[in-house]
Amino acid sequence: MKTAILGGGLSGLMLARLLHEKNTDLVVLEAEPEYGGLCRSRTTNGFTFDIGGSHIIFSRDTEVLTFMRQQIAGNEQENARNTKIFYKGRYVKYPFENGLSELPAEDRFFCISEFVKTLIAVEKGDLPAPETFRDWIYYTFGKGIAECYMVPYNEKIWKYPTEKMSRHWVDGRIPRPPVDDVIKSAIGIPTEGYTHQSVFSYPLDGGIEALVKAIARPVEQYIQTDFRIRSIRKKGKQWIISNGTESIEADRIISTIPIQHLIAALDHVPGKVRKACAALTYNSLVCVNIGLRGSVPDYSWLYIPDPALGKTNRISFPSQYSRHVAPEGHSAILAEITHQPSDNVAQMTDEDLIAEVTDTLAEMDLVTPDQIVSASVVRQPFAYVVYDTEYQKNIAIVRDYCGSIGIPLVGRFSQFEYLNMDGCIRSVLDFVKSYSA
Ligand SMILES: Cc1cc2nc3c(=O)[nH]c(=O)nc-3n(C[C@H](O)[C@H](O)[C@H](O)COP(=O)(O)OP(=O)(O)OC[C@H]3O[C@@H](n4cnc5c(N)ncnc54)[C@H](O)[C@@H]3O)c2cc1C
Repeated sequence: MKTAILGGGLSGLMLARLLHEKNTDLVVLEAEPEYGGLCRSRTTNGFTFDIGGSHIIFSRDTEVLTFMRQQIAGNEQENARNTKIFYKGRYVKYPFENGLSELPAEDRFFCISEFVKTLIAVEKGDLPAPETFRDWIYYTFGKGIAECYMVPYNEKIWKYPTEKMSRHWVDGRIPRPPVDDVIKSAIGIPTEGYTHQSVFSYPLDGGIEALVKAIARPVEQYIQTDFRIRSIRKKGKQWIISNGTESIEADRIISTIPIQHLIAALDHVPGKVRKACAALTYNSLVCVNIGLRGSVPDYSWLYIPDPALGKTNRISFPSQYSRHVAPEGHSAILAEITHQPSDNVAQMTDEDLIAEVTDTLAEMDLVTPDQIVSASVVRQPFAYVVYDTEYQKNIAIVRDYCGSIGIPLVGRFSQFEYLNMDGCIRSVLDFVKSYSA
């Protein structure tokens, strides 16, 4: 019984490793010349950058976190998070509700008074339960935090109106901050939020790819790269998977490739399923990687909610995650710009994107042009699932169909869920428990 795993990103590689441990005969089919998907890293002139955006290792799931850290044992740098939100020229502590004392006085008052008023209204049952993501933001944080930070930042990263986004995915992911913490934070008593991420790990050498390389090591011989799946057909009980010139036969397949690629490769997909799949919304990503002479501030990463400051939504400082990712006397900045798959950012040249980011960095007083020793651009077509209000209806149609033809979906763009690395590994662990080939 041969199993073909479609896609050689973290999910596909983790599947391969665990199924190999169960003595499954398998092959991993990966479109790109190198495996790793969003968890690849590239080293040029002594600078190592993650090419799927800045990655860190953290999790609430202790089993998965322990597994990830074991993979990079001996090649790990542990870091305390020092993350800020760039707000009206100030570096405000992250999460925003834990940094209120750093706001201008009027904004601090606006945030704290609206938070308390909203809390009272919720307790009295005066506010209807939120329906959209935007409603949820106002309901959870109040108008002040919503309008100063949550709405502008979320619209900048998702490139989607928050009133057209579903709220289902934030339940459990982002809790309402405790009122004591918000009051303490507003009067300047330090508090911490998102504590599961306040300490994080990163490989010393090799970027985040060191993690997927360690996971893939026992199964590398089963990975076929440069195999872009174009068609998947059933012949009797066998699956025939083709890249247009070569075909592979398998008894079972498991897909970790984007659901849009899977549906496009299949024959006889009902129109209703194609339509539901086409309606699923996602974002693409541009990463601008900048190598610098000298040092950068002691921040882990920065959020930039203000649309007037340019297109960049987040700036990370990889040379703070690992002291080995930049040459001696140098440092690194990774700027992320999310965009819709075919909007005007997708049409911008690399030169224009670099200029866009360096202008923002100069405006923030982070970098002077003479410090820059290298700059490059990497584009990722699939970066973030966007949960629009039609998402749950559409994904159910697509998943039911894939289930009905016997193709399990595992991974971020295959399940079409906002899964971080830990979520992908958890999905694989749960899937493999009930898999027999
Ligand atoms: C900006 C950004 C920052 C992130 N930061 C973090 C972080 O700090 N911590 C964290 O835990 N997670 C983070 N993540 C999430 C993490 O990157 C993902 O959870 C994980 O990489 C998903 O792995 P995957 O294998 O499911 O998907 P992918 O990595 O997308 O892998 C899918 C694979 O399928 C291949 N493929 C696609 N089409 C075909 C085809 N037709 N034929 C064959 N192969 C195909 C692709 O080339 C790719 O290798 C971040 C993600 C982004 C975008």
